[in-house]
Amino acid sequence: MSTPNDPQRMERIVSLCKRRGFIFQSSEIYGGLNGVWDFGPLGTELKRNLKDYWWRMMVRERDDVVGLDGSIITHRAVLKASGHEDTFSDPMVDCRTCKARLRADQLAEKNGAKQCSNCGGKDLTEPRAFNLMLRTHLGATEDESSIAYLRPETAQSIFVQFKNVLDTARKKLPFGIAQIGKAFRNEINPRNFIFRSREFEQMELEYFCAPEQGMQLLDYWLEERLKFYENIGIPRAKLHVLTVPDADRAFYSKGTYDIEYEFPFGVQELEGVAYRTNFDLMAHQTGSGKPLEYFDEETKAKFVPHVVEPSAGVDRTLLALICEAYDEETVTDEKGKSEVRTVMRFHPRMAPIKVGVFPLLKNKPELVAKAREVHSLLKPHMMTFYDEGGAIGRRYRRQDEAGTPFGLTIDFETLGERGDELRNTVTLRHRDSMQQERVKIAELLSRLLPLVQ
Ligand code: ATP
Repeated sequence: MSTPNDPQRMERIVSLCKRRGFIFQSSEIYGGLNGVWDFGPLGTELKRNLKDYWWRMMVRERDDVVGLDGSIITHRAVLKASGHEDTFSDPMVDCRTCKARLRADQLAEKNGAKQCSNCGGKDLTEPRAFNLMLRTHLGATEDESSIAYLRPETAQSIFVQFKNVLDTARKKLPFGIAQIGKAFRNEINPRNFIFRSREFEQMELEYFCAPEQGMQLLDYWLEERLKFYENIGIPRAKLHVLTVPDADRAFYSKGTYDIEYEFPFGVQELEGVAYRTNFDLMAHQTGSGKPLEYFDEETKAKFVPHVVEPSAGVDRTLLALICEAYDEETVTDEKGKSEVRTVMRFHPRMAPIKVGVFPLLKNKPELVAKAREVHSLLKPHMMTFYDEGGAIGRRYRRQDEAGTPFGLTIDFETLGERGDELRNTVTLRHRDSMQQERVKIAELLSRLLPLVQ
């Protein structure tokens, strides 16, 4: 049985993710691509629910944030001006014994001496900077002039398009531009499943403001983001806020918080919330020679806005959701037989499938027809799964592993065979408590919809 401190917990989670179709190694049948992942049917739904909820909270339900969907392929000049081309690197060492390449700041240490985390060897090269950006060539010639990059973060296109958005969206400060999308980093040591990947997704907001609002907005956004995690089922007690010390902060940032989560492999960063002053817009104003200023109608002042940035990782949050949801418990049936039930206790809002629909028996056409009818009623409104194969208990267990919060069973009562009172009612089974109740088909939507939205 896996308890929260079980050293094998992560292995069990990784195995469930593959077995149930949450996450697969990319290009697996060809030996796999290190640090790159594909999301299966359940993982895709979970990811979509996470991104949709972020977008709803950060854009749709606010009046002061608009969206952007920038290109992944990025002009070299953008990443030169932002500083990425020259400084976006990690310190790397080579192990002369086993030839492994390792991040110098993540080396294991024994008796005060750094050693290779692969073979334990101590014969290591001096650290040198390794640029993490993935480079490509655009067009038919592969030379210096055709170099472009796959973006290492989504933020830069927001800064570069700041003026266009300002002119078209007619927003006044403070206001934000949000973006969700892929980012790429050629991480030296991808690890901890999807936690550190080479291709991943970010959910970023750049919230522009006047200089005097920066520090206050930094604290405001920290609180908003903590609330967000609670709303998706990650308890406050498992989140840690690290105030990044002056020495570790980027030189242009006046304040940075890291929001961390207690993963089974340690407390690690989920999101950074940083007050970045006007460093980014200034860098692009200088780099492009185009003004990126804001004119304040009231004060008649013209200035380059400052920015507060909550920057979250989709994949890391997804992993936190999966780790948080994973549970095993011993259940005993009416005959006294015990078994271990694996259950993913996702918040219904995040659960990949919201409702499982089951006819009690698959060889009774009336039951099947009624179950199909219930399925069709719910399908346009939420992700549902129809399953008629195997004993009902086994079907429940399969949905427990997928994290489906509600199960609906269509039985002989539904058909009115046990009296009119129960006609057109179904059994609603709750995943976490396994309790069952009767609910009228006509009331299903109004009952379930608010719980899963
Ligand atoms: P780390 O120190 O863990 O490498 P970072 O501080 O470099 O992360 P940021 O540049 O602040 O990360 O990126 C913002 C967010 O993007 C991170 O909090 C994380 O959620 C996500 N992220 C960054 N790098 C990766 C990666 N290699 N794989 C998955 N997610 C990532």
